[in-house]
Amino acid sequence: MINFLDLKAINAQYADELKSACARVIDSGWFIMGKELETFEQAFADYCGVKHTIGVANGLDALILTIRAWKELGKLHSGDEIIVPANTYIASILAITENDLVPVLVEPDEHTFNLTAEGIAAAITPKTKAILPVHLYGQIAPMTEIMALAEAHQLLVLEDCAQAHGAAIAGKRVGSWGNAGGFSFYPGKNLGALGDAGAITTNDDELATAVKALRNYGSLVKYENLYQGVNSRLDEIQAAMLSVKLAYLDGETARRRMIAKRYLAEINHPHITLPRWERDEEHVFHLFVIRTQERSALKQYLADKGIQTVIHYPIAPHKQACYRAIKHEALPVTEKIHQQVLSLPIDPVMTDEQISYVIESINQFKINNVN
Ligand SMILES: *Cc1c(COP(=O)(O)O)cnc(C)c1O
Repeated sequence: MINFLDLKAINAQYADELKSACARVIDSGWFIMGKELETFEQAFADYCGVKHTIGVANGLDALILTIRAWKELGKLHSGDEIIVPANTYIASILAITENDLVPVLVEPDEHTFNLTAEGIAAAITPKTKAILPVHLYGQIAPMTEIMALAEAHQLLVLEDCAQAHGAAIAGKRVGSWGNAGGFSFYPGKNLGALGDAGAITTNDDELATAVKALRNYGSLVKYENLYQGVNSRLDEIQAAMLSVKLAYLDGETARRRMIAKRYLAEINHPHITLPRWERDEEHVFHLFVIRTQERSALKQYLADKGIQTVIHYPIAPHKQACYRAIKHEALPVTEKIHQQVLSLPIDPVMTDEQISYVIESINQFKINNVN
């Protein structure tokens, strides 16, 4: 059986370190907003190349609280439009609607699955106040062009970095391009906690201070409340787990890239379209996503061979029951992507033999109705 992602095996590599870090927190008797959080926040800020990291409870809150902070600071207002890819995971869009702003869904490039500068430019209206690019599947969006557009139109940029820890263009990593970046450390993400966790990265002192208050009841000084905040803190045990795993992130990314390169070089099937990327540093392969019109047959065939695959995502956000009322143009590219994508196992602990077996199995896939 080849698991899509073997979390048990991934964390087992670091079990001794994780257990001793956990014991250190238990022995300290301090569980919320302490030294472990400060240490991780500093390490992750250094990793991303930014001034501030603010830990929060999860990736959705990282996005929600950044937009909320911009509202508190008077930079965004209810009803403002935010441009977001139509094919993203629902969380990117929830963060906008949760704040009473309007998501403007834009079609991605079908080969990179990411927004393009042309697509964004065509969607800008006088009401547009921000862009929320998503580095989907682990590939950085075209940030050089996006930042130029944002500057020309005076738009804020919030990067959704939940799938792309460490992806970069010219050495500049995700989370350091926009005005802020939102990260998830959900267990299955490239940098995963052993529970829920998230963070905001930014170089903006004012934003960092506002988010720090918002995550903790709107308070910076105990029992003094600046904002009607929430409770969204990254606890000491998860911060300690993340500090252990951050040290291994680049090694795991290198392994993911190696698997992706083998898939790209060795999968050869007339009915399968492989993903595209330009340079290694731009993609950290959270997912390796192929497209095929024979998706359900291929998925079943691989399952029969003991190979687990996943669809990211089966239903487009604008087709979800919760967004029935959302206004959007026709979205044929997004709909095609949702009908055709299939994610292959890309797990840093896969063996070379397992990778070969996935490749051979796919290359031998026969389509019933076609010769
Ligand atoms: C996982 C994810 C999120 C949300 O992160 P959580 O920690 O699960 O709340 C947001 N955006 C994208 C693109 C994601 O993949």
